[in-house]
Amino acid sequence: MEVLLHEDLAALSDLDEQSLLESLSQRFKQDRIYTYIGDILVAINPFKYLPLYEKEVSERYKYHEKTKLPPHIFAVADRAYQSMLGRLATGPRNQCIVISGESGAGKTESTKLLLRQIMELCRANSQLEQQILQVNPLLEAFGNAQTVMNDNSSRFGKYIQLRFHNSSVKGAKINEYLLEKSRVVHQDEGERNFHIFYCMLAGISPDDKDMYGLLDPTQYRYLNGRYGSEDIVRKWGEKYSEVCNAMDMVGFEEQEKVDMMTILAGILSLGNIMFEPTETDALRVTDKSMGWLKATAGQFGVQEEELLRSLTCTLSVTRGEAIRRLHNQQQAEDARDSIAKVAYGRVFGWIVSKVNELLAPNVDFDVELSEIGILDIFGFENFAVNRFEQLCINLANEQLQYFFNHHIFLMEQIEYKEEGIEWESISFKDNKPILDLFLTKPIGILSLLDEQSAFPQASDRDFVDKLNSKFKSSPHYEVVRSHSPLFTVVHYAGKVQYNGLGFLEKNRDTIPASIRSLFINSVTPLLSLLFAATISRTGTLMPRKAKLMQKADDNFNSTRKQSVGAQFKHSLAVLMEKMFVASPHFVRCIKPNGSKLPDQVDNKIVMDQLRYNGLLETIRIRRDGFSWRPSFKEFAQRYNILLIKPDLPLTKESCMSILNTTKIHGWKCGSSRMFFKYWHQEELARLLERLGKA
Ligand code: ATP
Ligand code: MG
Repeated sequence: MEVLLHEDLAALSDLDEQSLLESLSQRFKQDRIYTYIGDILVAINPFKYLPLYEKEVSERYKYHEKTKLPPHIFAVADRAYQSMLGRLATGPRNQCIVISGESGAGKTESTKLLLRQIMELCRANSQLEQQILQVNPLLEAFGNAQTVMNDNSSRFGKYIQLRFHNSSVKGAKINEYLLEKSRVVHQDEGERNFHIFYCMLAGISPDDKDMYGLLDPTQYRYLNGRYGSEDIVRKWGEKYSEVCNAMDMVGFEEQEKVDMMTILAGILSLGNIMFEPTETDALRVTDKSMGWLKATAGQFGVQEEELLRSLTCTLSVTRGEAIRRLHNQQQAEDARDSIAKVAYGRVFGWIVSKVNELLAPNVDFDVELSEIGILDIFGFENFAVNRFEQLCINLANEQLQYFFNHHIFLMEQIEYKEEGIEWESISFKDNKPILDLFLTKPIGILSLLDEQSAFPQASDRDFVDKLNSKFKSSPHYEVVRSHSPLFTVVHYAGKVQYNGLGFLEKNRDTIPASIRSLFINSVTPLLSLLFAATISRTGTLMPRKAKLMQKADDNFNSTRKQSVGAQFKHSLAVLMEKMFVASPHFVRCIKPNGSKLPDQVDNKIVMDQLRYNGLLETIRIRRDGFSWRPSFKEFAQRYNILLIKPDLPLTKESCMSILNTTKIHGWKCGSSRMFFKYWHQEELARLLERLGKA
C-alpha cells in the first residue's frame, strides 16, 4: 500500500502500465488528485468540490519546499514564480506552464488556480491583480460553451502572459487561438451556443431587454429554440452580472458594452431570417421573417435594403463593370450565417485586444520585464464528425506533444551523448513525422489546402483526392473509400477521421466586400470600427492606420489575405518560438471518466490518456535522467558561495569542489556542464538558504 500512495512516481524503482494506473487511481479514490512525476504534475479531475484551494492552503504553499507538502497545482505556481525570480535554479528567467489534456480534463480550472496563486505570490493586492483575475470570467462568457464533453468547454485556445518587473506584476497579455465561430450558427445535439447569449437573455433588465429588442429566448433559431430550467436560468442571470462587473473592472466603457450587447442581439435576430424563392429568379424574405429583417437592421444600425441586398446577391466587379449575381436559397442562408460568424468573431477579437490594451504594462521602454506564460489550449478532439476546426485543434496538440517530447526526451538524451554521460537510451513515440505531414512545405496538408483554396473552382473532393495521392503511403495517413471527402490521420493520440466538406471555404474565410461595406457604414460605432479595422497575422485587432504602417515592412501579408490555416500555422510557430526559449513546467490533466462524474475511474479511459501522453516513458526518464543541466560557468557562478570563495574560476574543477563540500550525491559531470536530478535543485536551494540565514 505504501508504494501505491507514492506522491512522486519517479521515485518508484519499478513500474509498469498497470501499476501506474493503480497508483493514480488509488490516490484518486482518497481525493489525492495530484501526483508528481519528477517535476511534472499529473492532475485528475475530481468533478466535485474539494477543500484544496482555501486561503490557508494557498499560504502554506508559498515559498515551500516541494518535498515537504503533498503535490499541488499551487506548488507549480510557486516553482514557476521562484524560478522567474532566479531563486530556484539557473536557466532562462521566462517561464511557461503548459497545461494539456482532453476536453473536460481540467485545464481551464488549473489555469485559473495557477493565476490566482501567482497573484497571491506576488502580493499584487492592487487594482491590476483584480483586473487580471477578471479577464477569465469575461473570456469564458464569450468563448466557452456547453458541449457533450464539458459543460464549460473552452472553444478557443489561449496563452496568458503575465509580465513582471522584479517580483511584482506589471501587466498581462492574452493571445487567443481559433475561436470556434461556427458554433454561433450551429450546435450539434446536446450542445449549446456560447454562454454569453444565455447569460444576456437571463440577466438583462426588462428595460434593457426592450432597448436591445430582445424577445423570448425560445424564439431564436441560433439557440435551437432551447433555453433552460428555472434553476439554470437563475445561474445564467448571476453570471451575467459577473460578466458586467468584469467588464467594468477591466475598464470597458458603458457605450462599448451597450454596443456589444446590441450586436449580439442583432446576431440572434439575423439567425431567424428565412428565405423563399419567388416566381421569378429572385429570392425573397419570408413574410414571417420580415420582422426579423427589420429588427436585425435596427440592431446592426444598417439600412434594411442594404442588409437585404448583401443577403440575397453578390456584387462582383469584372473589368470595371459591376455584375450582380442573385443568390439561391442555400447561398442566401450561407451569407446570413457567415455574417453572424464574422460579427461574433470580430466582437471576440475586439474584447481580447481591448483587454490587452487595458492590461499592457505601464513601464518605461528600457525596463526589462520577465514573464510567466500559461498555455490553456483546446484538448485533442475526436468526434463522430471531425471538421476543419478539429484538424487545427489536433495539429496544435500534436505540436504541444512534440514540445513535451523535445524537452523531456530528445534534448536530454542528445546532451547525454554529446557530454559523454553513460546512458541507456529510453525510446518514446516521436511525433515529428506527423507534424511534418501537416506542416512541410510545399506538400504538407496545410500547404495543399492553401493550394486548393486558391483555385475558385476547386472542391473539397479535389482537396481530399490530392491528399490521397500524396500521402497514401504515409504511415500516418489513411485513404478512406467513400463518396464523402473523408480521410484519416493517425495522430499521436489515436486515429481521427476527418470530413473534408467545408475545408476550402473555412480556410479561405473571406468576407464579401458588400458585407464589409455594410458594416463599415453602420451607425453603431463599435460595429463600424470592427470592420474598418483588420485582424493582423498574430490575431490581434489593428486599426487601419496601423495596418497601413505595417504594410511597408510586411509586404506579402498585405497583397493577399492569409488563409486561416496559414495564420494558425504562423501563430503556432510564434508561440513555439516563445516557449522554446523559456523554462517549461508541465501539468498533465487527466479525465477520470467520460460521464463528468465524481469518484469514478474508468480504467480504459484513463489508460488511453496515460498511454498517449507517454507518461510511463516520462516516469522512466525522470527517474533515471538528469533534467537539470547547468553549464560549469552557470553552476559555479551561482553556488561558489557555498565554498565562500566568490572569486573561484568558473570551471569544472570548481564545480566539483563545491559539490564535494555538500552531501549531495547522484549528480554527474559532463564535458561542458553538470548533470543533476530534478530534486537536486531544491537541495541546493536549501543549502543556499541556510547559508543566508547563518
Ligand atoms: P476543454 O478542453 O473542454 O476546455 P478543460 O480541460 O478546460 O476542457 P475544465 O473546464 O477545466 O476542462 O474542467 C471541466 C469541469 O471539471 C469544470 O467545469 C469543473 O466542474 C470540473 N473540474 C475541473 N477541475 C476541477 C477541480 N480541480 N476541482 C473541482 N472540479 C474541477
Ligand atoms: Mg477549457
